Amino acid sequence: MGLCDLNTIRDVLGRHGFHFSKSLGQNFLTAQWVPDRIAAECGADRSNAVMEIGPGMGCLTLELSKRAARVVAVELDRALLPVMAETLTGIENVEVVQGDILKTDISALCAEKFDGMAVHACANLPYYITSPVISALIDCRAFESITVMVQKEVAERICAAAGTSEYSAFSIYVQYHTEPEILFEVPRDCFVPQPKVDSAVLRLVPRKMPAVSPQDEALFFAIIRAAFNQRRKTLANAVLAAFGGRLNKAEIFSLIRSVGLDERVRGERLTLSDFAALSDAAAVLLAEKCETAAVSQEMRD
Ligand code: SAM
Repeated sequence: MGLCDLNTIRDVLGRHGFHFSKSLGQNFLTAQWVPDRIAAECGADRSNAVMEIGPGMGCLTLELSKRAARVVAVELDRALLPVMAETLTGIENVEVVQGDILKTDISALCAEKFDGMAVHACANLPYYITSPVISALIDCRAFESITVMVQKEVAERICAAAGTSEYSAFSIYVQYHTEPEILFEVPRDCFVPQPKVDSAVLRLVPRKMPAVSPQDEALFFAIIRAAFNQRRKTLANAVLAAFGGRLNKAEIFSLIRSVGLDERVRGERLTLSDFAALSDAAAVLLAEKCETAAVSQEMRD
């Protein structure tokens, strides 16, 4: 019986006195095709390694171990360590590390465990920390690819195009650093306990160079944050508030027009290229006023 079989799950967890924790996002897979397909599509093979986050009982870990040279799985819940000592017994190329992925130096862990091998990240993520984990996996620049199961709406938000209601500052951040793609959807009845939402498996392939090349990355993201913090306002009004009076409304209108946009446009309509052009134009104008550093700093705070 596989580790997704409901009777096996109940039997093993029951014998270990384990109870699911809602606060740790513990929804375990009960459909074997899901870990099979994630393992098949995450890029793992005998020439590389996988870092998994949140192995739970080890159903995905086991499938990854059949394909990758080495798997290191970071699990927060100590109660699952004896469970995996049983379910993953005798699997030589797997190591379970107890820890909180958000407090882990991921680059250092990869350097320590994988000896220079190419590494893929893979996870059925706990819903409560999806965005910070994805950000940490991107920011550490340690992975060839990042394949994660997340709430379906989050996957759609990450891949959303400009002008849609799902498009957000987080979509832009992820699309700036990676090429995101939804691989497949996973209905809620593939988990125990059953969550209230459906899921999707998302693959992020880190870009060698960011999608666009703003002159001042901090200013670029500061403008994006300002635009989406007040997404009901026009871009001009949202940015006016964020510029703290260093640029007046006429100057902001003129900046927006200078990159070929209507001065009444909302921030959510701008593509990454539009935001890069706008932030470059703003950088020039602020440099003329010797204000760039001060504004980037203020908008970051
Ligand atoms: N991989 C298993 C599966 O697919 O059946 C379990 C997935 S479950 C959605 C999420 C797992 O992440 C749980 O095992 C949970 O204990 C673990 N987890 C929660 N927060 C974590 C954290 N901060 N760091 C590492 N693991 C965490």
